[in-house]
Order: sequence, then structure tokens, then C-alpha cells
Amino acid sequence: MKIYVLMFVCLLVLGIATPSVAQRQRFKVLAFYSTNVEPDHVQFAETALKFFAARAANDNFTFDSTTNWEHLNDAYLRGYQLVVWLDDSPTNAEQRQAFQRYMENGGAWLGFHASGYNDKDTHWPWFVDFLGGAVFHINSWPPLPAKLVIDDRAHPVARGIPDSYESPANEWYVWKPSPRLNKDVRVLATLDPSNYPLGLKDVLTGGDLPVVWTNTKYKMIYMNVGHGDKIFTSPIQNKVIENAANWLGLGSAGAAFSPPSGMEISPHGIVLNLKTHRAYAVNTATGDVTVVDSSGHSPSKIKVGADPEAIAINPITNRIYVANSGSGNVSVIDGATDQVVATVNVGDLPYAIVVNPVTNKVYISKTFSNSMTVIDGTTNAASTLKVGVQADALAVNPATNRLYLISYESNSVTVIDGADDSTTTVAAGTHLWGIAVDSATSKIYLTNTGSSNLTVLDGRTNATTLVDTGDIPCALAVDSSNGRVYAVNYASNSVTVIDGATNSIIATISVGVRPQAIAVDPGAHRVFVANTHDNTVTVIEGASNSVTATVKAGDGPYAIAVDSASNKIFVNSLAWPSLTVIDGRMLTVSTAAGSTP
Ligand code: ZN
Repeated sequence: MKIYVLMFVCLLVLGIATPSVAQRQRFKVLAFYSTNVEPDHVQFAETALKFFAARAANDNFTFDSTTNWEHLNDAYLRGYQLVVWLDDSPTNAEQRQAFQRYMENGGAWLGFHASGYNDKDTHWPWFVDFLGGAVFHINSWPPLPAKLVIDDRAHPVARGIPDSYESPANEWYVWKPSPRLNKDVRVLATLDPSNYPLGLKDVLTGGDLPVVWTNTKYKMIYMNVGHGDKIFTSPIQNKVIENAANWLGLGSAGAAFSPPSGMEISPHGIVLNLKTHRAYAVNTATGDVTVVDSSGHSPSKIKVGADPEAIAINPITNRIYVANSGSGNVSVIDGATDQVVATVNVGDLPYAIVVNPVTNKVYISKTFSNSMTVIDGTTNAASTLKVGVQADALAVNPATNRLYLISYESNSVTVIDGADDSTTTVAAGTHLWGIAVDSATSKIYLTNTGSSNLTVLDGRTNATTLVDTGDIPCALAVDSSNGRVYAVNYASNSVTVIDGATNSIIATISVGVRPQAIAVDPGAHRVFVANTHDNTVTVIEGASNSVTATVKAGDGPYAIAVDSASNKIFVNSLAWPSLTVIDGRMLTVSTAAGSTP
């Protein structure tokens, strides 16, 4: 405080002495943030402090920041024309009341991302009303860039901003009710519908999603951006934020609506039995699994639990395991009869699932849990395995009897010894998402969505090497027959081809729009990439690294598998019919299986 008082005095003296020369500070901004919240929200706050400090110098306002929410009191706020919440909101009643008084008496507020979060446990009705009635409903995951459209060209925030722009990687919140339903709300920017489907796990599938808005009863703007360290990498979006701060600081004070929708998906939403040549695809919306043989004809359905997302198979026992996130259990299907023979409770929100064929054990991770459930494939008995992080992806290397677990929020890979379930961690990369194992070489490949590269982990020595990729590498596939590694770059619309023997980049191949799933046919050395936004599958000839065909798939393809022997490609999609079967010889869609839910 003393430093600020001294600075203020100096400015005052300068102002009196040379009023025509000194830059007068136009308004004062106080930003609140917390450091004990989600690490990605803290990262955003830290980048925001640098951004605002630079803008303050340029635009002649004073920018102060604090992690002490007790400063949210009448006396302290009196000195500021604009209050910013970067990553949190107050829970204390006195602080909440002080903020309410501040806003009701002409104060201004700029809130980002998590600062607007509210749910049934928030118990602050005034704040929900202040936000325009918006209540957090669901979110996309992991953080991805998205195109935003300016709704209100006349608003000062839109000054100098094009009609639409690409907003950097962010976790997008969906609100229910939507603030657009409130007659006092002016929506300033909206997620462009061309972004749908948006997400690699929690995927937003459609509807109206306001991102920036103001409740005209107050001098306020809420912006949903604010997750991770990429937010300030767009000069256009930076200008939107700068415009908002200036408009609020200086105190100037109807389209067709469809409700927002979304669902959770897994890249492992489809699995093959390579002996029976049958494909099993989850239907998350209807709680069943579609089974189809290699002819693609007469698909049948197996009823499982609620919201099935991921599926895995033990090819030795011909048992198929389905993680039902909505009902907290795993359905065990006998592949000989396609009947559910057991349902095993595993706890809330099972997500990733993998079978270790060496031990006949099934490993299931759960969202928001640092423990996994392990099912004994012989007895179907479940036990708990503490792993210390929430696993977003799992893989097994039967050659070494080791399992690999990665988490978006951890920079390490956890290695599980299949013999005794003991764990070790190895530093790997930033915001890990995809994982693939080359059993022939015991190398494990991990995509770093946060740093545009992949980590090559030597499964025998745990030594690591980094290889550059395109932006937001998400999915991976390995052609074990020749050691080629294919990384799918979500944001670059490309595939990076890597020679597994030398870790050198062989080619970068352009594919369709927003690719997010990949599968390899090791027999034909062909690679199939599912492009979620243009509803196609790109076919890459591995020998020449060239695109030989682009085949139409269902709407929003997100999971893909290839049966080399039958030459069929199976694609699971968000919309109905969900399952597309592509003939690998003719490169034609031989069937689309599924029915309207
Ligand atoms: Zn967030």
C-alpha cells in the first residue's frame, strides 16, 4: 500500500507542476485473483496480470492486483472505478455484500471464466441475477480454440474487431438458463455454430452459447475466456478485452434461440474383436452398444448402463468392457453371445478403460478421482488402486506388462507395473492427452497439447525425447509393422508422420477440418483420420504419405478403428446414425448403422 500512496503523491505533484505534460491516469482498476484454484485458472490470472499491466501503461489507467479477497470492502473499493475478477469469486457473505453495494452504486466489473461459475452450491442469488440469470450447466474439455462471432457491432467493445475471430484454446462454459433469455442482457460475442462439435472429451454438440455479455442493469461485462496460458495469444481478442476494460473503466454505460447441448465422449468409443471381426460402438445418448459384423449389415444393440463412453476388449477371453459414466459401473459383455454377463460398480464417472491381457485385469479411471478401479477379469471383483492423478488416458504394453496413465493436468506419465500394480512417475510434457504404444519397440508416444510436440518414452529405460508436431496434437496411432508414428494435430488440421526408429519427422500431411481420431491398418500401411468438423475420414497411403481419398462419415466422427483382415473401417459419430462402416478396398461407405434414439 505504501508504494501506491507514494506513487499517487508523485503523480499528483507532477500533475500540479506540469498539467499539460503529465499523463493523467483516467481510472483505477483492481484485479482480484486466487492462487489456490485450478492451476490453469492461476496460469490465466498470471498472464492476465502481465497483459493488464502493459495495457495500463499504454492506455493510462492504474492497475493494481491482489489475492486478498478481504479487500472486497467498501473502503477499499471506493478507490477504484473497475473491479476485475480473474479466476475466482467471493464466498464470504461480507465480501459479497460489499461487492453488491459497489455495483449498485455505480461500480464496474469485468469477470473472466471461473469468476462467473455458479451452481446449486453457490447460494448467491443476487450474483446469478447480476450475471443475467446464467447458471453453469456444462463445459467443453479439454481446452480448445474456437471461432467467436460478434453479436453487437454497435457496442464499444466491438470497436475495431472483425465480425468473427479465432479465440485461443479455452474451456467453454455452457449456461442454463442462457443469459440471452434475459431481456436486460446484451450478448456481445457468441460461439460460432461452425465450432460444433467442440471438445475431445466433454464435447459441445450444438445450441446458442453466449461467450461475452453485459447485463445492462449494471456496468458489467462477463467473458467466458480465462482457462490456461493461451488466452492472450490473439491480438484480436486482446483488443476485445482492452476495449472492455476501457469502456467499463470510463463508466459509459433477439435472434432465434435453441437450448445448448453437449455430451461427453471418449476416443475409445469403439473397439474391434479381431477374431470375430465384430465392432462394438458405444451410443452414449441411448445407453447401448451397437454391434456390427464385418459385412456391416444387420447391426444389433446391447443395452448397457447410462452414458456409456469408453469400451475395451480382452481378445483372449473375448470379454468386452463398457465404462458407463452416468451409472458409475462397467458392463461386461461376453463376445460369444453378445450378452451382458455382469455389471460391476466402480464409482462415479468412469471414463478411461483398458484391459491388460497379460493379467486379465481391467483398469478404469474416473473423472475427478485420483484412484482407479481394477476389475479381475476372472471373478469380476473390483478393487481400488490409488494413482495420485485423474487419468484421462490409459494404455498397456503387453510386451513388458506395464500400463501407462496420463492426465491433462499433470506433466508426468504414471507407469504401472502390471505384476504388482506399483507405480512410478516419469516427467513427460505439457497437457498430455493422447497415448499410443508400439509393442514391437516398447516405445510409448504421448501428445503434449500444451506445447505442440510429443514425448517418446522408452518403455524399457523410461528415457524421454521430444518431437515437434503441429498445434494441439491430440490423437496418435502407431504402425507397429514399420515403426511409423502418426500424430493428429487438431488445430493445424494435419497429421505429423514420425519415423519411430530415428524420431525424425518424415512428413506433415494436410487432412480435413478438426481431426481428432486416427487408426492404422498395419497390413496395408494405410492411415484413417476422422475429421470432426467436416464429417469425413481422410485416407493416407503410408508408403507415399499422400492423401488418396476423403470419405464421407457420419456427423461429428470422433472414434475410429480398422480391421486389417476384413478391410473395414468403423467410425463412431456424435449424430445418428452413429456408426459408419467404410470398405477399405472400395473406399466407399458400405453401411451406416444405427437408428434414431
Ligand atoms: Zn476453466
